[in-house]
Amino acid sequence: MSNEAKTERRNDRVGLFGGTFNPLHRGHMACIEAAHDRLNLDRVVVVPAARNPRKAAVDGPTPEQRLDMLRIGLEELGYAEIDDQELTRGGLSFTVDTVESFAKTVAPENLYLVIGADQFDEFDKWKEFERILTLANLTVVARPGFDAPFSAEDMPQGLRPLVAAFDRSFVQLTTGRHVEFLRVAGVDVSASDVRKRLRTGRGVDRSLTIPVEDYIRAHKLFEPLGEKIGDFEEFTRFCAGVLFERKALAVRGFDLRGLEAAAEFTLVASGTSTRHSGALAEHVMRAVKEEFNVLPQSAEGLGEGRWALLDYGALIVHVFYDFVRQEYRIEDLWRSGIDLRLTDPKA
Ligand code: ATP
Repeated sequence: MSNEAKTERRNDRVGLFGGTFNPLHRGHMACIEAAHDRLNLDRVVVVPAARNPRKAAVDGPTPEQRLDMLRIGLEELGYAEIDDQELTRGGLSFTVDTVESFAKTVAPENLYLVIGADQFDEFDKWKEFERILTLANLTVVARPGFDAPFSAEDMPQGLRPLVAAFDRSFVQLTTGRHVEFLRVAGVDVSASDVRKRLRTGRGVDRSLTIPVEDYIRAHKLFEPLGEKIGDFEEFTRFCAGVLFERKALAVRGFDLRGLEAAAEFTLVASGTSTRHSGALAEHVMRAVKEEFNVLPQSAEGLGEGRWALLDYGALIVHVFYDFVRQEYRIEDLWRSGIDLRLTDPKA
């Protein structure tokens, strides 16, 4: 790169917008447009994150497919660029590494990290957030339901010592950078809601642009798992069988079809330790993959093992560390469901 080009780039105002984009939706687009127009940015760079390698594999697009959806979806904005460095790096994606890489060519006063307000609440938990706030300004886009802080005391705790001057929509930081809040008459949409709508066959035209929706349909992403699974009562009994085999305690299943519940069936079991319950959930995932070639739509808490949750759409499996299960008494929620009276065939 020539010196002239380098100087030119240092003067560019650059916005970075990271996320999983699983999938890219209209809320993201509104965010990008707001940042571009209102911050007067020369470049907006969208940075898809790698999947957390410590999380269990779930049903959904590959990193390449998420990237494809970004390419296709961002075309209509014309100016948005995509940087795949986090995907190429693999492993856990840390924003500080990405910001550092841009800080090599962009002056800190010209670099803007754009995040949604939900992320801002947790920003002081991000790796080296102070370093980020030295290398870049922070732009917080208030998505519907989230508000800008009323005073410095409403800022995330770790950020309070960095506040040099507070004005509601503009916070000057002691690092020389600032935090700015942008209100967007955005679309009240989240990727998790989009995934849920697609999996239950509901419309997504208010949430997705046509090219992204077409891509999703063509690649059969976020399809309901029902077809592969078939009869969910039998499927529930299959999962229970795996749990019994692996010495789970107090395995109970409920048919919730008559209720206003999130799923039609639920299964709950306990492990004797956090390790045991995490392993039980993993055994269920493995057995289901082998037998039905299906991964859950989401899998939470497996590493920690206090309360592991596998979401197979019409069946949700909860595996608790027994001590934690007593605390939540979750079965009380399903009292009006039909108890499947599961029994260990080997007992
Ligand atoms: P999920 O529902 O799976 O958590 P998400 O919709 O929040 O996903 P991400 O890819 O995690 O999507 O988000 C990328 C960035 O976009 C984040 O900074 C997030 O806060 C922001 N964002 C997401 N949806 C909106 C929205 N409707 N309006 C404004 N910002 C949004």
